[in-house]
Amino acid sequence: MEITGAIEEVRKQVKEWRRQGLSVGLVPTMGYLHEGHKSLIERAVAENDRVVVSDFVNPIQFGINEDLATYPRDIEADKRLCEQAGADLIFHPEAAEMYAPDFSTYVEMQKVSEGLCGKTRPTHFRGVCTVVCKLFHIVMPDRAYFGQKDAQQLAVIRRMVRDLDLDIQIVGCPIIREEDGLAKSSRNTYLSREERKAALVLSRAVFLGEDLMKKGERDADTILAAMRSLIEQEPLAKIDYVEMVDADSIEPLARARGRVLTAMAVYIGTTRLIDNFIMEV
Ligand code: AMP
Repeated sequence: MEITGAIEEVRKQVKEWRRQGLSVGLVPTMGYLHEGHKSLIERAVAENDRVVVSDFVNPIQFGINEDLATYPRDIEADKRLCEQAGADLIFHPEAAEMYAPDFSTYVEMQKVSEGLCGKTRPTHFRGVCTVVCKLFHIVMPDRAYFGQKDAQQLAVIRRMVRDLDLDIQIVGCPIIREEDGLAKSSRNTYLSREERKAALVLSRAVFLGEDLMKKGERDADTILAAMRSLIEQEPLAKIDYVEMVDADSIEPLARARGRVLTAMAVYIGTTRLIDNFIMEV
């Protein structure tokens, strides 16, 4: 496995693979890799001849008061995980390699990026779309892998690929959880022991919502009220949002119908965590 911070190196390598007729998968990440990322890399390894993992804490997807400076990093551990998972190349650029001092072109999306996380993080998806678009142009993969953990991000990327006619297959992968239910996240490292316990309200609310829908409940207010009241019982938790939307358009639903995304963002202390479930009804 190779690692490089240079765009030109990635291009050279991928061109060589292409010359040999090999297919290429891309797994975009912000590093501090865990089992969730690993599941994406392993899926990419299973479905492509060569796999590139990008490992880049993308500054432009963080808002001014967010955790860019403290976002956890451990490239040595990331290398080991990528190697174990069977990746071929890590792209680990400096911010200056990706963004020239006079960088001025952004990919901006309406609607799909405006609800849910877009409300609290108004410039987040502009940063995500721009960096993913750049990564797509640098690597030119056949397939790119994203987790359902970030369900709105997945919807946004699918829409960008459709709208801009990018010839890349987007593969969505299921949420990987800790044994007690907490969705794996690089940000879980911010949690104190007490907060780690409190963070279980997110997955508990997900399981409760899922259960209600499995039992036939379709009314969004009823499902969301039950989930909210469970979360509100935890003193360390503060709800940002708990909503039911169409999984593709991210438009709010009054009744569960079609591919339904029920998603939440909840602060545990100062750490903002997200979780969700998707059900076809
Ligand atoms: P991040 O490094 O947090 O930007 O995540 C990189 C990719 O890994 C995104 O597509 C995420 O959705 C995905 N991912 C993160 N956590 C998980 C998880 N627990 N299960 C599945 N995919 C995940």
